[in-house]
Amino acid sequence: MLGRDQFFDTNFMTEHFDLLCIGGGSGGVATANRAASHGARVCLVEAGRMGGTCVNVGCVPKKIMWTAGQIAHGLEDAAGYGFSVPEHSFDWHTIRSARDDYVRKLNGAYERYLGTNKVEIVRGHAKFVGRKIVDVGGRRISADHIVIAVGGHPARPNLPGAELGITSDGFFELESQPRRMAIVGAGYIAVEVAGLMQALGTRVTHFLRRDHFLHDFDTMLRDQLMAHMQADGVSFVTRFSIARVDQEKDGMYLTGYDDASHGPFDCVLWAIGRAPNTGSLELEATDVTVHRDGTIPVDAFQQTSVPGIYAVGDIIGHHELTPVAIAAGRRLADRIFGGQADRRLVYENVPTVVFSHPPIGTVGLSEEAAFARHGEEAKVYETGFTPMYHAFTKRQVRMSMKLVVVGAQEKVVGCHAIGPGSDEMLQGFAVAVKMGATKQDFDDTVAIHPTAAEEMVTMKTARPARATPEENRS
Ligand code: FAD
Ligand code: NDP
Repeated sequence: MLGRDQFFDTNFMTEHFDLLCIGGGSGGVATANRAASHGARVCLVEAGRMGGTCVNVGCVPKKIMWTAGQIAHGLEDAAGYGFSVPEHSFDWHTIRSARDDYVRKLNGAYERYLGTNKVEIVRGHAKFVGRKIVDVGGRRISADHIVIAVGGHPARPNLPGAELGITSDGFFELESQPRRMAIVGAGYIAVEVAGLMQALGTRVTHFLRRDHFLHDFDTMLRDQLMAHMQADGVSFVTRFSIARVDQEKDGMYLTGYDDASHGPFDCVLWAIGRAPNTGSLELEATDVTVHRDGTIPVDAFQQTSVPGIYAVGDIIGHHELTPVAIAAGRRLADRIFGGQADRRLVYENVPTVVFSHPPIGTVGLSEEAAFARHGEEAKVYETGFTPMYHAFTKRQVRMSMKLVVVGAQEKVVGCHAIGPGSDEMLQGFAVAVKMGATKQDFDDTVAIHPTAAEEMVTMKTARPARATPEENRS
């Protein structure tokens, strides 16, 4: 580390810090705050709104809209519990402006917390002009350690009329609720937005290239979710390859390579993945290796190919989740500035929730992945039931759960749930899986009654794991 007198190097007019974080999203902010708490002098550069994707155009505004969808379903369900719900309507503008206010408050809170930790915030776009020197609008900044946490942006397909569609960023700017919406893509964003918009009254058509979405997820979760979405009224067009989008008088039309045309739609959402923000960093000025797709490879300690330059968060190209970016950044700061030499994030058993309607909570190996890794050692406990809540509602949502276990000890290597409450349920079970719990540990845990979660500790009969989704469906 340099001393305070070397903090400002007049020869090069370069300000020097212990740590420079490029990007004020989940990863950058977490790294900066943790490093500062260890006494490091930290600078953070942010080109846009503080908090990055999660706060501004990701988890936070999405969860607010998901909750609105839940409330819409709750209003539908209320009659079964004896309520006569008066004629009601949903006002897009009200929730949009409340949501925007909430996000603005978070922007301010992030900034204030960085200030409290004495992190120097520089506004602007960072680009490398030397191995460890960055330029931000003419201001030169160097550091002993540099963390690249620039995240990504939503991808658009390269086809005629693609510009007529919006991405998830545009979704959060919609001034009014579309009546008819086409959603293209098969990942988290596609299923989440499809579910919440259908719940809010939009007529959603979901376009997939294959037969199914969420293809790395356990078959039970994917199949159940698709059935639930269909029951909610989402239309699916599967095995569809879009050739072009056209704007006609009555709306937009999607035409496939097979010439089949679908429409009209008021809004087309591209939810086909995200692309890394490496392009404008000018990493050529360093020796940092960049993959062809723009992601930055790192070792187990988040280090890039250049000692002292690290990457955390979405930019490394896997586990694109806010808590992962935060955990990787904090552990990195603990290692560099907190004297914890072995501290690092192990990218295993990362729990995740899909905020679909109903939600999915999942951790560990899917049944198919467990079979691929452990063969006949892998077994499955599963259950399906109607939660008590839905015993009284017209809308019927079943709950499904699965434990994937291996070996004579029946170590739990996968825990999956879909249905109401799965989103809040999974965190605790993820602790158990992370700690190496066995099926016996689950059985020995006293159930909480009456809940849906209790079914996770009362499953009785195992069957052999199946190798493929097709076997699972047969
Ligand atoms: P980001 O949060 O994207 O931050 C990167 C920052 O770097 C940005 O603020 C950007 O302006 C800045 N930047 C880029 N280039 C430069 C530059 N050259 N100079 C200066 N600044 C720069 N994850 C969950 O865990 N749960 C969810 O429910 C969830 N929902 C999501 C919903 C949507 C619609 C989306 C799009 C994502 C969602 N995610 C969710 C994913 C989550 O938002 C990301 O994994 C997370 O934000 C990644 O953090 P990051 O720090 O890597 O990047
Ligand atoms: P994802 O990477 O999750 O999924 C995109 C999918 O879209 C691909 O897997 C592919 O599936 C399909 N696809 C790709 N190209 C095309 C195309 N040209 N036409 C049709 N379909 C296509 O991307 P998202 O944009 O949904 O989300 C980005 C990341 O953000 C997620 O991976 C996740 O990590 C994070 N996120 C997390 C959330 C959460 O934690 N709840 C919520 C939202 C996002 P296929 O090959 O099957 O067609």
